[in-house]
Amino acid sequence: MAKLLEGKPIAEKIKEEIKTQIQALKFKPVLASIMVGDNPGAASYVKSQAKTAENLGIEYQLHKLAQGTSELVLIEFIEKLNADKSVNGIIVQMPLPPAIDYKKISRYILPEKDVEGMHPANIGKILFGQAKIVPCTPAAVMELLKETAVDLYGREVVVVGHSEIVGKPLALLLLDKFATVSVCHIGTSKAGKLEEHVNKAEVLIVAVGKAGLIKGEWVKEGAIVIDVGINRVGDKIIGDVEFEEAQKRASWITPVPGGVGPLTVTMLMRNLVEAARSQQN
Ligand code: NAP
Repeated sequence: MAKLLEGKPIAEKIKEEIKTQIQALKFKPVLASIMVGDNPGAASYVKSQAKTAENLGIEYQLHKLAQGTSELVLIEFIEKLNADKSVNGIIVQMPLPPAIDYKKISRYILPEKDVEGMHPANIGKILFGQAKIVPCTPAAVMELLKETAVDLYGREVVVVGHSEIVGKPLALLLLDKFATVSVCHIGTSKAGKLEEHVNKAEVLIVAVGKAGLIKGEWVKEGAIVIDVGINRVGDKIIGDVEFEEAQKRASWITPVPGGVGPLTVTMLMRNLVEAARSQQN
């Protein structure tokens, strides 16, 4: 029976480190958060970020822009925050209204203020193993793996999902640890090869957003399973992996909710403090 790999206790430890780093800064770091329109998902992220920031001694500035805000107006707003020396980090909340292209917008945030790590310059640094600011969800997964004390060198690691925000940067971070990384996606599923890949995974990380995509019986005996997926089914939140069956076979498994989720906002705050530190220097 797998041990539960919970995010909260790890997040608490990292928050203590962040507090120490903030004390060393000798100023209160500022995170500017831009929310366009009134999306309930974005509103709930904002609430949780504001609470975490307050507990850590970070100033959280929320800027609410109207639903009909154009890309141009949003870019001008970001540029104002870029130029404001009192702002250390900028985050644009997702989802954005359909008329705004996040990929385009994310390029306008100065790389040194890009606390989500999605600017091409920051993504590029991951490729060269030089990243200090790493996208929050992949960073959270790496912290969970650290907790298991697994040595990734030469391990068979399978990542399911190849999004720009989770799967792809995560694959690069794992390669940097000399894991043997396979990245599965819709093409793998359509070719009927997902089970075969999952079956060989000593470490399995799933970030798709499809409840029950990974059958518990596919999981290799003793595998570490990290389920990033979030799916609302009725009044429950569940992951992408069939939890009960997978738990019987794995050595470690993240619960959903309670695994990756509690760590991502902490990773955001860690990125902010890293940004503030490098701006100070
Ligand atoms: P995304 O952008 O929709 O990406 C999903 C990925 O899964 C894509 O690469 C997609 O491939 C692939 N995929 C779709 N159907 C598949 C299938 N049948 N077999 C294999 N791969 C398939 O989503 P995301 O932003 O990466 O997020 C993934 C999940 O993680 C979501 O449930 C999201 O809510 C969750 N999430 C959780 C946290 C957290 O804090 N816990 C943070 C971020 C995301 P194609 O693009 O080729 O179709």
